[in-house]
Amino acid sequence: MKIGTKDFDEFVKEVQAFHGNIAPGVVAGGIMVDLAIKHLPPGILFDAVCETGHCLPDAVQLLTPCTMGNGWLKVVETGRFAVALYDKYTGEGMRVFLDAAKLRDFPEIRAWFLREKRKEDQDMGMLLDEFRRAGGGIFTISPVRMSPAFLEGKKRKKSPIRICAACGEAYSASLGNPCPACRGEGPYVVEH
Ligand SMILES: [Zn+2]
Repeated sequence: MKIGTKDFDEFVKEVQAFHGNIAPGVVAGGIMVDLAIKHLPPGILFDAVCETGHCLPDAVQLLTPCTMGNGWLKVVETGRFAVALYDKYTGEGMRVFLDAAKLRDFPEIRAWFLREKRKEDQDMGMLLDEFRRAGGGIFTISPVRMSPAFLEGKKRKKSPIRICAACGEAYSASLGNPCPACRGEGPYVVEH
């Protein structure tokens, strides 16, 4: 089985290097992204949306030009293990999800996916074998059209910049005054 231009084992190595470990979710995500690309018209400029922030975004970032940083990849949390690639101008695309109804012959994938086994009890060798055997067969793919509100939201102009009166740092003025960190919404207990 090929994932993008790589064969399966090569892709698994890339997952380990990029993601930090061989996460089953990134391996599955690789098959999903590959499947979606193959079902899009060739040569279109596509953007991506993941329905979970777990694992799937890394598969998109490994296999496409879409990243969180360049804004071509967005996460909209529905909690579903699904990714969609869509034409960035028309919003027409393909959505792929890991289909729990198709896992009967793949007990190790099922146990991982439905969290029926603790992580330490998972058998990575068996899991990878099952992914290799399953290929695209455990996923369901269907056409989608992105909502106008979602596409419009992506085009929103960037906010002006203001210097925060409290911390003196530049920040997006649209976030209120003073900056969110100085209103106690930052991630740190000690910042200075
Ligand atoms: Zn501030």
